[in-house]
Amino acid sequence: MGGMTTAAMLSKLGRRVLVLEQHYLPGGFTHTFRRPGYTWDVGVHAVGEVTEHSISGRILARLTDDRLRWTTLGSVYDAFHFPDGFRIDFPDSPEAFRHNLVEAFPTQAAAVDAYLAKVREVATGMRGYYIARIVPPWLAGVADLALARKARRFLEQRTAQVLESLTPDPRLRTVLASQWGYYGSVPSRSSFAIQAMVSRHFAHGAYYPVGGSGEIARTLLGSVERAGGWTRTSASVEEILVEGGRAVGVRLEGGEQVRAPVVISAAGVVATVRRMLPEGLRGAEWVRSVESLPPASAHVCLYLGFKGDVRSAGATTSNQWFWETWDSEADCWPVRAEGALDRASILYCSFPSLKDPSHDPGAEQRHTGEVITFVPWSAFEKWRGTRWKHRGQEYDDLKERIKDQLLAQLLERMPALRPMVDHAEVSTPLSTDHFCRPISGSIYGIEPTPERFRNPWLRPRSPIPGLFFAGSEVATVGVAGAMMGGLLAAAAVEPLAALRWFRGM
Ligand SMILES: Cc1cc2nc3c(=O)[nH]c(=O)nc-3n(C[C@H](O)[C@H](O)[C@H](O)COP(=O)(O)OP(=O)(O)OC[C@H]3O[C@@H](n4cnc5c(N)ncnc54)[C@H](O)[C@@H]3O)c2cc1C
Repeated sequence: MGGMTTAAMLSKLGRRVLVLEQHYLPGGFTHTFRRPGYTWDVGVHAVGEVTEHSISGRILARLTDDRLRWTTLGSVYDAFHFPDGFRIDFPDSPEAFRHNLVEAFPTQAAAVDAYLAKVREVATGMRGYYIARIVPPWLAGVADLALARKARRFLEQRTAQVLESLTPDPRLRTVLASQWGYYGSVPSRSSFAIQAMVSRHFAHGAYYPVGGSGEIARTLLGSVERAGGWTRTSASVEEILVEGGRAVGVRLEGGEQVRAPVVISAAGVVATVRRMLPEGLRGAEWVRSVESLPPASAHVCLYLGFKGDVRSAGATTSNQWFWETWDSEADCWPVRAEGALDRASILYCSFPSLKDPSHDPGAEQRHTGEVITFVPWSAFEKWRGTRWKHRGQEYDDLKERIKDQLLAQLLERMPALRPMVDHAEVSTPLSTDHFCRPISGSIYGIEPTPERFRNPWLRPRSPIPGLFFAGSEVATVGVAGAMMGGLLAAAAVEPLAALRWFRGM
């Protein structure tokens, strides 16, 4: 999303852009994959702020020449199910959200209001933080002090710390932080700013791309092509070429060199410095500094194909979160190669085909479902380096057990789906590593902790002239975060032209 946004934006500003993608499909986490009769998204379930009511929505519309359409997930976009039958819906308006929280926690109305006020405050403060990201390196320190000052307070505080200061009710704290799955860091570790930004992001509900998430690449890269640029897939960058201290192009796997006046890496900042910088530059202080930032956890996803009336079995357009605990620190499902698997404590379930008004279920009523939970990369790391689809029996057995366990847990919650299950397969962090190549198979790249936001090098301008960074690691996680990271990169490359372009928004 970051790279495609930069490419589309620079195309609008008159540049000719070449997009290089290692996968055989473009899109990164917005790509889709198929099996006979079914198509799934791999990283897009709910995106906020994409309508004409928000600036990001207007920008996206302009970048895609109005070709990308979004559809609402409805009045409830996330439904949370906690132990003891406690359910709370996250609706599509701030007033309804407040109402649901106060109804569930009637003695905590003041805490709810204080939380919502803090969320608004962070959103305003973050503007300065982003502007400070794009100034030239020699101004960065001053800009951080002057412009990002307001945001700094929230970036430095951890979510748990802020929530504890607001309410003594542990259940309310868990509910308020229950969307941490959208940014991949538990309350004791995450910066409160990211919690607030995600809360704000979904304040007016969530949306899904009409036609599925593959439409995002089709429309953004279409704009690149119409401006004379193009996209090459199965084009893996092996090294960024640096001559006389300046980035001048890239070398692809196979040896081909591509030269360009500007090189923008949207592969993730850590992945870029670790894998693509020339050997001699990898020991620099700034490189070691970004490399020290830990990644968010990895994930597994169960991809399901159904034949039948899934709505009658309880499937809806809203995402269903099944929590088996009130402990919001319970992050990873501890999977292991041997023995029985424990239960996963959190399941995120989504039925993408129901969200898409252009989906034709056909006579057999074909629908798709996805079940996601977090897992540690360490449980899969030993198979890195094995070949996709040829990773060995032990790995295949583990995948099978993961599939069985996730499916069993879903069917306990929605038993009427059982006879409709027609297809089930699991992706692991190694699938993520193979198709998107984030560090440590991470679901969201660098973990959004205070340390990450404090790092002075996560900016679109790298210390190497001619080399820029785009994507979620220079802004924040998610489709909209990566888009912001893409816009920042384009603005760093073409500041004046970008400013003129933004003025028209
Ligand atoms: C399971 C899951 C669910 C998600 N759900 C949501 C959601 O509901 N809402 C939401 O907003 N966000 C969601 N996200 C997050 C969102 O998809 C990502 O944060 C965002 O798309 C990341 O964009 P990016 O551009 O930063 O990185 P990426 O999409 O990772 O892009 C990096 C690109 O670089 C390419 N690359 C890497 N190395 C090389 C190389 N050497 N040569 C060439 N190309 C290379 C990769 O193949 C990839 O295409 C989800 C993510 C996952 C995994």
